[in-house]
Amino acid sequence: MSVHEEKTVKAMYEYMDIASVDAELICKICHSPFTEPQYTPCEETFCLECITKWIETQNSCYTCQESLSVNALTQANRTIRNMLDRIRVKCIACEQTELRRGTFADHVEKVCPKTIVFCSSADIKCPWAGQRVELDQHLLNCRFEPMRPGITQFITENKQLKEQVSQLITQITEQQDEIRQLKEQVNQHRTEITEHQNENQQLKDQINQQTTQIIETENRIRQLTEQVNQQRTQIKGHQDENQQLKNQINQQTTQISEKQNQIRQLTEQMNQQRTQIKGHQDENQQIKEQIVQLKTQINTCQRENQKLNASLTKEDSRIISINTQLRE
Ligand SMILES: [Zn+2]
Ligand SMILES: [Zn+2]
Ligand SMILES: [Zn+2]
Ligand SMILES: [Zn+2]
Repeated sequence: MSVHEEKTVKAMYEYMDIASVDAELICKICHSPFTEPQYTPCEETFCLECITKWIETQNSCYTCQESLSVNALTQANRTIRNMLDRIRVKCIACEQTELRRGTFADHVEKVCPKTIVFCSSADIKCPWAGQRVELDQHLLNCRFEPMRPGITQFITENKQLKEQVSQLITQITEQQDEIRQLKEQVNQHRTEITEHQNENQQLKDQINQQTTQIIETENRIRQLTEQVNQQRTQIKGHQDENQQLKNQINQQTTQISEKQNQIRQLTEQMNQQRTQIKGHQDENQQIKEQIVQLKTQINTCQRENQKLNASLTKEDSRIISINTQLRE
């Protein structure tokens, strides 16, 4: 019996004599025989559902309180599971007793008269559902089973039509996608055309502006060319003038050089003359000193002359007087 079946049918049976079940097979959490028994690392056994719910809230072992996760659980061995499978149960629905717990799912699925089943014509849309015990009676009255060939044909046609519809829907969807793509392309093209038109207009404007600029530039170039020619003429004039000035400067430089030579010669002459003048001055000084001496001598002579003149005058007077006397 699969794990899923064991869990699903658990609520559909009850234990016939739970007191006789071995205590080793009883879950400490739910106090019933284990369902899907699991070992913990501490070698305790619990129902999978019981210990999982416990771990989800407590994160630890129910018995030893050690940290525990669902991944650490392992399935109980076959011996335990076989012992559990042999426990006797009673079907709550049909009250049949002495059923083995391990085969109870088979009882529900194949035997139990109280199990809810569907009509064998459910595949051709008979909606009937009821207890298995009532199925034979229903089949006697089932209105679908006699119409099976027609309904099967309808179902087949319906299925084919559905497939066609599905194909048509697929085609329509594809065509809608295509239309959407085409519309997007058209929109893109429109946008591109508009952009190109704008670009063209901008380019035309630029060309017009540039044409205007070119004309202005040509005029400017013409003016500049005239100015350049004028300036060339001026430069030529300046160059000629410069050449003349250079020539003058050269001449003047030559003259200056000559003058400098003259000045040098004159300076030398002047120096010589200064030396001569100095000599003359010294000589003059000597002559002046001689003159002073001579003046002194002249003065002395004059004084002597005066004295002699005085003496002469006296003598003259005496002579005169003598002569007078003599005449008398
Ligand atoms: Zn349990
Ligand atoms: Zn433990
Ligand atoms: Zn039953
Ligand atoms: Zn039916």
